[in-house]
Amino acid sequence: MPLTQVQFPILSYFLCVVETRTGMPVQATSPMSTAQQQQNGNEDAPKPLPKGMVLGPDGKPCRSCNSGAAFKSWAAMNMKAPTKPVSATTVPPAATATSSDLPSDCPPDVEQLGRSSWTLLHAMTATYPERPSLTQQTETKQFINLFGKMYPCWVCADDFRAWVKKEGNEPKVSNRDEFGRWMCEAHNAVNVKLGKESFDCGKWEERWRTGWNDGRCG
Ligand SMILES: Cc1cc2nc3c(=O)[nH]c(=O)nc-3n(C[C@H](O)[C@H](O)[C@H](O)COP(=O)(O)OP(=O)(O)OC[C@H]3O[C@@H](n4cnc5c(N)ncnc54)[C@H](O)[C@@H]3O)c2cc1C
Repeated sequence: MPLTQVQFPILSYFLCVVETRTGMPVQATSPMSTAQQQQNGNEDAPKPLPKGMVLGPDGKPCRSCNSGAAFKSWAAMNMKAPTKPVSATTVPPAATATSSDLPSDCPPDVEQLGRSSWTLLHAMTATYPERPSLTQQTETKQFINLFGKMYPCWVCADDFRAWVKKEGNEPKVSNRDEFGRWMCEAHNAVNVKLGKESFDCGKWEERWRTGWNDGRCG
């Protein structure tokens, strides 16, 4: 029996959660064909989703969980073209492109959100006291805990919380260097998951606090 406009996003979301948790690819059932939709008076039903698209709790593609390119291709299939051309005064040419090829004043995709978030997190370790009070240590752990719950890419947040929970990975906050290295390890866990190179955590302070020893950061 064909799925309705309401059932399809719910099923897609469920399958997406199963795929994320089990690592097993699951095939979403296609929504009704256009002919079927028209027959049912349902012309606005969502189009099939690109493979691997992560959905949000509302059953729609999650912008902060996907690359800008994937989101853009889905949007191109589903959304109306902009009604007004974007004027040069609202989007300066020098600031238009991001790595995902979206204008820089669009909501963040998973990569832009990630880069900005790591910048904040590492910058926090860089300004963390060398001798933090017990209150500072407790509040820092609380922050990490809440960050893991509120991070807008929910699949990223789930994995981050799971990593923090593993034995030996609990936040280490008894001094600046310990916290800086812990954050570097947390970041490396994501790097590994994404197939990126690991960062040398012996250099976390040069990258995020003092600037490189060759003086290029002033
Ligand atoms: C908590 C969290 C979880 C995430 N989970 C996912 C996920 O599941 N899937 C996904 O697609 N994306 C995830 N991201 C985003 C991902 O980590 C990257 O931010 C994104 O892919 C952009 O990568 P990038 O190559 O531009 O550099 P980034 O990884 O964002 O790094 C920015 C800069 O930090 C420096 N750096 C790199 N590694 C380290 C390190 N270990 N220690 C210190 N400095 C370092 C480098 O100079 C680098 O240029 C997550 C982000 C966060 C904050």
